[in-house]
Amino acid sequence: MAQQPPLGPADSVVVVGAGHAGVQLVDSLRAGGYAGAITLLSRESARPYQRPPLSKDFIAASGAPEALPLRGEGFFDDAGVRALWGVAAERIDPEARQLVADTGERIAYSALVLATGADNRRLGVPGEDLAGVVSLRTLEDAARARAGLEGARRAVVVGAGFVGLEVAAAARARGVDVTVVAPTERPLRRSVSPAVSAFLAERHALDGVRLELGTAVAGFLPRPAGSGSGDRVASVMTADGRELPADVVVVGVGAFPAVGLAAAAGLAVGDGVTVDGGLRTSDPHILAIGDCASFPSAHAGRRVRLESVQNATDQARHAAAVLLGAAAGPYAELPWFWSHQGPTKVQIAGLSRSDAHRVVRGDRASGKFSVFAFDVTGAEARLVAVESVNSPTDHLAARRLLGAGRQLTPDDAADPAFDLKAYSRAAPVPA
Ligand SMILES: Cc1cc2nc3c(=O)[nH]c(=O)nc-3n(C[C@H](O)[C@H](O)[C@H](O)COP(=O)(O)OP(=O)(O)OC[C@H]3O[C@@H](n4cnc5c(N)ncnc54)[C@H](O)[C@@H]3O)c2cc1C
Repeated sequence: MAQQPPLGPADSVVVVGAGHAGVQLVDSLRAGGYAGAITLLSRESARPYQRPPLSKDFIAASGAPEALPLRGEGFFDDAGVRALWGVAAERIDPEARQLVADTGERIAYSALVLATGADNRRLGVPGEDLAGVVSLRTLEDAARARAGLEGARRAVVVGAGFVGLEVAAAARARGVDVTVVAPTERPLRRSVSPAVSAFLAERHALDGVRLELGTAVAGFLPRPAGSGSGDRVASVMTADGRELPADVVVVGVGAFPAVGLAAAAGLAVGDGVTVDGGLRTSDPHILAIGDCASFPSAHAGRRVRLESVQNATDQARHAAAVLLGAAAGPYAELPWFWSHQGPTKVQIAGLSRSDAHRVVRGDRASGKFSVFAFDVTGAEARLVAVESVNSPTDHLAARRLLGAGRQLTPDDAADPAFDLKAYSRAAPVPA
């Protein structure tokens, strides 16, 4: 792909999306010394905020919802960023190197960065648009979910992924009766090992969450007409013919990358906007980062698209370095992730496949353990990922080892007498 010269003060950067990736990019460009024009477009009118708390503390507590800002007040003004809140990018004109906003303004760019994130999947079943059925992505969605939980007796959560389980725990913390309905046989089937799934299923059940697994949702029924709230959800219909009463429903069935702008501009897209190791799209003047980008992962050995704060933030830093001509090589940061489900903290470092060889370190019954995943080729076992449950020390050690490419045998990983912390300390500290 054609090499681009580093940005200079006469250049202009346009960033679409002010989530974790877009905001970090702007920050890193200025921190890296870029003094040219920056325009940041956000179709949300709320000032940039942290998304992870939306399915956790934000809805677990009573009182007025407050978002956690991504940067302090005055950050964008101080950084000399032209921030357009509540303005969506409508179209890219790659030949003219201009972005067309929904206000009609054409904004010229030397470099355009797409940080458009992901949009929630819909179930595509009847009743999905009833009041009280909420799909959680934005601050507005979370405020709706929280209002629905106020005074609710029964909630149904559709989906047993991270967002679904976090919402279930938060709703239980408010004393709401919670049922999780999901078509998969185990929670988090695509994201964690069977051992961690089993632990979480037990943990949520102990906390009083009812798990209806292997169950698809067929639709939502409204309250009876004449009840004064006939457009509001009353129950969830399952595909096996049951009706689950619900005052509020939260749907968390995954997301798809926001690639519309890129695709319409003729950029290469697959599961995400296709980028190279420099996070450049098929048009070298346009980069894509965060949830919307499909990139070649050194850790997975294949192209992946990740939905995590770490990925959004680290790719933003890397994209800024690429634009400033300061990137030392292709993007290669270790992926890691966290999820807080009530009192249970899950942390994951690295990426594993379902056929990985796994060993458990620690005692599941104690509620603190880690699952180490290895890729096995012949006699060689290579550590590729670690899932830690309530074991932050293991997680940090795993990040050190995986980040440094330092090896560990499955026997050592599983041996409680093996000093993992000391062993990992011989590896460089991750960023
Ligand atoms: C409820 C919830 C809980 C989560 N919890 C965790 C967690 O515990 N840990 C973790 O690591 N990750 C978590 N995530 C994932 C994490 O929040 C995302 O990976 C991260 O926000 C991705 O950042 P991003 O900047 O790529 O996208 P986003 O943060 O989604 O930002 C993209 C922004 O671009 C805007 N946009 C899109 N198209 C346009 C357009 N045409 N014009 C203008 N603006 C546009 C969108 O409206 C959005 O504001 C969670 C996500 C959700 C939804």
